[in-house]
Amino acid sequence: MIKIKPHIMGGIRISRSRLILGVLDESPIISPILIWDIYVDGINILFDVGSYPAEMAYYNNHTHFIPAFYVSLTEFINNSRKDFDVVVLSHLHWDHASGLMYLPESLPRSRVLVQKSEVEFGLSPSENHKIFYDYGSSNNYIRNYMNKSNFEIINGDYTLSEHARIIHLPGHTPGLQGLLLEKDGSSVLIASDTVPLFENWYSGERRINGIFYDKNLFIATYKKIESLNTTVIPSHDPLIPFFFENEDLRIIAKKIKSYFSEKRD
Ligand SMILES: [Zn+2]
Repeated sequence: MIKIKPHIMGGIRISRSRLILGVLDESPIISPILIWDIYVDGINILFDVGSYPAEMAYYNNHTHFIPAFYVSLTEFINNSRKDFDVVVLSHLHWDHASGLMYLPESLPRSRVLVQKSEVEFGLSPSENHKIFYDYGSSNNYIRNYMNKSNFEIINGDYTLSEHARIIHLPGHTPGLQGLLLEKDGSSVLIASDTVPLFENWYSGERRINGIFYDKNLFIATYKKIESLNTTVIPSHDPLIPFFFENEDLRIIAKKIKSYFSEKRD
C-alpha cells in the first residue's frame, strides 16, 4: 500500500489573487505550510521540509507568516520518531525549504533531491523572486545549509522507485518538482506550488499560480500534468487535511475525485 500524510508545519495569510492568476479577490485566506510523509516501495519519503521559525521569517520580511501554527522539522521528526530515506525538495522557496536548517541535525543520513535549475536560480534569483529565496540575507538557508545536507542534484524527471517518480514542473520556479505516485490504476501528483489551491485545477478552468517565473513554461507544465491523467494534490489549500484522514493513496484519490465531481453537478 502507498501511504500519504500531510502535516501542517505553519501558516501564512495570503489572498486568493496572489495564488490564482486573474482572480481579483484580495480577502485573505489562512493557508497551511505543509510537508508530506510518504511510504512507497519500502521507502520513507519526506516531501518538503517546512519553514524556519517566526523570528527568522520576520527578519526576512515574510510578515504574512503566522507564528501560532509553527512546528519545526526537528519537533516533527522527534514526535513521529521516523527516519526518512529520501527528502524531496519541491523547490527552494522559504515556506517549503527553509526548514533545511534542521536537516543536518534531524535527518543526517537522508538523501536530499533537488533540481539543478532550482539550485542555480535559488542562489541567484531574478529581481522579483529574491524575496522568496531570502536572497542577500545573512541567514540564507540555501547557502548556509545545502552543503551540510546530502544534496543530490537531479535534472528533469527522475524515477525514485517502482511506483514513485519525481516530475519536473517548471513555471512557478525553474526547478519546481512534484511527486507522482501510482499503483494499480490509482495515482496522485503532489504538485507543490504548481497548483497552490484546489481551485487552480478543479474550477473548470485551469489557472496558474499568481506567482510565476515563466508563464509559458507554466502553461506547458499544466499540459504535462494533463497528460499524466492523475489526481492533483495542491500545496496551500486549507481544505487539504479533509482528504487525508485515511492515508491510503487509493482512498485519497477517490475522495478528491468524488468531491470535485459532486461540486460540478
Ligand atoms: Zn513557492
